[in-house]
Amino acid sequence: MNLASKLAEERRMRLAAERLLEQKQAELFAANRKLGQHARKLSNEIVETRAQVKTVRDENEKVKSDLTVAHHKVEIAHQKVEIAERRLWHSIETIRDGFAFFDADNHMIAANKAYLALFDGLEEVGPGVSYPRILQFLVEEGVVDIGDTAPADWRSSMLKRWQQPAPPPTVWRLWNGEYYKLIDQRSHGGDVVSLALNISDTVRYEKELKDARTRAEDAARAKAAFLANMSHEIRTPMNGVVGMSELLRDTTLDDEQQLYVDTIKNSGEALLVIINDILDYSKIEADKLVLRPEPFDLERTIHEIVMLLQPAARDKGIDLAVDFDLFLPTTFTGDRGRIRQILTNLMGNAVKFTLSGHVLIRVVGVQRENSSDTDLHISIEDTGIGIAKEKLAHIFGEFNQVEDDRNRKFEGTGLGLAISRKLITLMGGEIWVDSEEGKGSCFGFRISLRADDTKSIHPPSLPKVMRRAMVVDSLEVNRIILAKQLETLGMATVSYPSAGEALKQIDGSIDLLVTDHTMPDMDGFELATELRKRGHELPIMVLSSSVNFAEKDPAIGLVQALLQKPTPRSELFARLQDIGVGLSLAALPDDPAPLAQGTPKRAMRVLAAEDNRTNQLVFRKMVKTLDIDLQFASNGLEAIELFQSYDPDLIFMDISMPKMDGKEATGEIRALEGNGGKHVPIVALTAHAMDSDRDAILAAGLDHYLTKPLRKAEIFAVIGENCPDAARPIAHEETAAQSA
Ligand code: ADP
Repeated sequence: MNLASKLAEERRMRLAAERLLEQKQAELFAANRKLGQHARKLSNEIVETRAQVKTVRDENEKVKSDLTVAHHKVEIAHQKVEIAERRLWHSIETIRDGFAFFDADNHMIAANKAYLALFDGLEEVGPGVSYPRILQFLVEEGVVDIGDTAPADWRSSMLKRWQQPAPPPTVWRLWNGEYYKLIDQRSHGGDVVSLALNISDTVRYEKELKDARTRAEDAARAKAAFLANMSHEIRTPMNGVVGMSELLRDTTLDDEQQLYVDTIKNSGEALLVIINDILDYSKIEADKLVLRPEPFDLERTIHEIVMLLQPAARDKGIDLAVDFDLFLPTTFTGDRGRIRQILTNLMGNAVKFTLSGHVLIRVVGVQRENSSDTDLHISIEDTGIGIAKEKLAHIFGEFNQVEDDRNRKFEGTGLGLAISRKLITLMGGEIWVDSEEGKGSCFGFRISLRADDTKSIHPPSLPKVMRRAMVVDSLEVNRIILAKQLETLGMATVSYPSAGEALKQIDGSIDLLVTDHTMPDMDGFELATELRKRGHELPIMVLSSSVNFAEKDPAIGLVQALLQKPTPRSELFARLQDIGVGLSLAALPDDPAPLAQGTPKRAMRVLAAEDNRTNQLVFRKMVKTLDIDLQFASNGLEAIELFQSYDPDLIFMDISMPKMDGKEATGEIRALEGNGGKHVPIVALTAHAMDSDRDAILAAGLDHYLTKPLRKAEIFAVIGENCPDAARPIAHEETAAQSA
């Protein structure tokens, strides 16, 4: 090999070596850069990790310190709980009463000393002991005085009480005479808190009070008995004084002597009233008053008292009104004398303490379910001086008068209301009062009395021609009562306070005028005269509170009825009934239309089924003035036969008859009539007036109902109303004139 080739070779090799070097350097550089990047990343990670480690370390530190604070707090709380518990127990320990609590399995959890002291040193009674075991200790160790009860019975009853969800309190008497009241309360979880209250002082105090009360009552009774005796003793010589002064008055006396005797008599009588009050009061107090119930007429009793009070009321210009429930029986069983005494007192007070206006006695009653007892509410309302609110509570007390300058002028013992209240209480009722000073008072009382339904007054059924009534009275309360009564009987009413107003308003639609007599502008008779002058023919009823008010009035012939106020219901009903008959008869056509072919009309056919001969006679006599054809049936069977053969226009049917009674006979007749056929009106006649009877009678198919004893006016009204077109009018001329 030549040099050149060697040089060339060397150059090539050097070039190759240089290229390799270059490549290696590039590689080294790249590796270096990668290394650098890696180192940077590593370094970043290290920085990050270090920061994280720091955060964790910081948090750790914080948690550690929080923990320390919490620990501290728990420690403080714990101390507080301990203190509270100590205080609580300290308090529970210091109270005189026993306190314990038990778990749901009836084991004692804890108890204070007072509770444990009940068991007087028995060591076993303490936390952990069961309640049944405690009961056993109580009996066996004689801690509790169980009287005559057998120990086992006492324990079982006490355990039963304890096991109830809400055990009722019970009282234990201990061996040493102490009394404990046990109050146990069960919580939702079943734990029981038990309190044992020492009530020995209260029990002792109560016993002392009871003894003192018995002694006081005995003393009061003795005093009342003494008073009763005394007043009785005083009454005997007082009767002598009054009686003799009365006799003395009838002897020849000069004026001065007469005055002396009158004074003795009046004073004696006044004293007797006071003594009677005291006697009554002390009798009730000494439990010596016995009620004597008997049937009596309540409505009449009220009207008798009204009569007695009427002169005093009239002198003052006060109106006395009675509003007696229209559908209430009249006869009740009660001590009439005592009820009269109560009413006299309340009504007398009302008149005494009223200077103008009115006194209204209102009686309403509700029959008790399944009983013939009626709860009667009687109220006495006045427009008098009234009673101040603060005095109301005292007026039923003894010798309590609302004393002030205003009423010192009123006489009285102040015993009337006390006696009334005691009598009402004795009757099982109650009394109350509502009053406003200056406006008036309303005294009310409630008593239950047996009603005698057989003596009920039944409101009349007014004929259809009595539809509208006009009431004229200057006093509103009277207008209201009258309007209510007439409306109850089925009439529509309009009311006016004066005759002038009535004259202005009256027209042909009014069928009846009921007017007061004494009115400011024009009295009742003047009103009647004016109406007749103007051609009004309607029936007029005049009422007045004065007696014999119409005696000399020439207008008396213009009115159909005169009534004294307040009017008993029976009287009002009878007058209305009479007016009703008059109107029914007047409504009959005067001039019947001529029949075809001029045949005269037949008489109305009336069948009366009545087994009693005397009653048949009475009935025949009652209707003898009527132009009717009358046949009698003596029992239900005959009534059915005559219904078919005689074809009556109206049947009066006695209810109790032999062979077949009235209800059954009516049933048969209705069956014979069939559906849609002619319907003969049948009127029941019965002596029984119980509501249930009435319902049964009407349910049996009868149309009307009349109670015995029969009233002519009622019979006439029914016959008049049912007279068919095919028959002649029932009225003879004489009858029509009588009834009109
Ligand atoms: P007396 O009427 O004999 O004084 P009462 O016992 O009957 O006794 O009444 C007690 C008091 O009650 C009366 O004195 C009177 O002050 C008051 N009082 C009773 N009724 C009424 C009444 N209707 N209006 C106002 N005060 C009355």
